[in-house]
Amino acid sequence: RQAQYAAIRDKAAVTRDGVEVKLNLNAGLMVDLPFIEETGASGIGLFRTELQFMVANSLPRTAEQLDLYRKVLDAAGSRPVTFRTLDIGGDKVLPYMDVIQEENPALGWRAIRLGLDRPGLLRSQVRAMLRAGAGREVRIMFPMVAAIEEFDEAKAIVERELTHLRRHDYRMPERVHIGAMVEVPALLFQLDELFPKVDFLSVGSNDLVQFLFAVDRGNNRVANRFDVLSPPILRALRSLAMKGQEYGKLVTLCGELASRPLEAMALAGLGYRSLSLSPAAMGPVKSMILDLDLGKLQALLAPMIDQPRPGQSIRTVLREFAEAE
Ligand code: PEP
Ligand code: MG
Repeated sequence: RQAQYAAIRDKAAVTRDGVEVKLNLNAGLMVDLPFIEETGASGIGLFRTELQFMVANSLPRTAEQLDLYRKVLDAAGSRPVTFRTLDIGGDKVLPYMDVIQEENPALGWRAIRLGLDRPGLLRSQVRAMLRAGAGREVRIMFPMVAAIEEFDEAKAIVERELTHLRRHDYRMPERVHIGAMVEVPALLFQLDELFPKVDFLSVGSNDLVQFLFAVDRGNNRVANRFDVLSPPILRALRSLAMKGQEYGKLVTLCGELASRPLEAMALAGLGYRSLSLSPAAMGPVKSMILDLDLGKLQALLAPMIDQPRPGQSIRTVLREFAEAE
């Protein structure tokens, strides 16, 4: 198996009928960086910046963050890296920050909500990312965006930092791409307002699925009650991919869904041409893409989503399809 994955490391992930699905890496700590080379990833599709904050003893200063982000960009070389701004709160706590007691932390003061209410933290992070990206391309995305105004406010922080750097004669990034994660269902119904403002969107399927089914992603008693390979989720993901094509904007997916070969296959069938996965999933998912007849899959998948038959398991049909391929 390992040898087989090593043999396809430098191959582009192209289906048998010639469609490329870019496979990026999810990362967050320095120990993840060697995986870029090892897996032959197209880039880093999700850099979870909070992991570095979670292992630190105190809040990392701008200079420390700058040093880290530079190392990440250096390790990636010419490959794109998408930094996600701090996603703390919910199940992710910083040991040196006061614990905030909330009835429902998953629905509480977390991610971009905290970032906008404590903009000093977000500003310092954005400044470090922009400085690390001097002379290169910088990609920044915001987690848990639920409203257009939140994206506007966060984007304004990036623009203010860019103005600051320009005024102080810092070397500027070559290009800055600003995107949002799609994790809150409300965003799915504001796409016509959102797409013109973003450079890209990235689905955080872990949170999006949790909120679509109202099922705690960490609670085993209910986590397996619903199948993600079912019409409601597949319809939501498909409509997002189609809107992205309509607006000519990249829509990618960086939740754990993309790390499971059968689910990744379904995502390709829904129109996703870029995914971000854990290092261990790279070989199995690439091997699946290389074996895939995408046209055939799409013909099989569409009717199951549009006219589901009672009792039919899309997962079972897709598994049989994958095994027959
Ligand atoms: C997600 O929600 O799918 C995601 C990628 O973010 P995290 O798992 O870090 O919450
Ligand atoms: Mg998330």
